[in-house]
Amino acid sequence: MKRHIPSKCPLCGGKIERGTTTFTVDLKTGVVVVRNVPALVCLQCGEDWIENSTSIQLEDIAARAKMQNTQLEMISMA
Ligand SMILES: [Zn+2]
Repeated sequence: MKRHIPSKCPLCGGKIERGTTTFTVDLKTGVVVVRNVPALVCLQCGEDWIENSTSIQLEDIAARAKMQNTQLEMISMA
């Protein structure tokens, strides 16, 4: 997970705008797929950056899934 949010894409130099992405957590015992995660997305190559406040929520979701021994869970943040 990338925490530093650049002003333009370090990979291709493209413009970065607010959008959403899909985040996948591999818990070894299972997988959690979180859709519509707010993120900053490069318009050119699609690389995404997730902000701290959002990554904290994702960690909560992952921790809960781990406790419940979820094998496959699909969540939408929107
Ligand atoms: Zn890019």
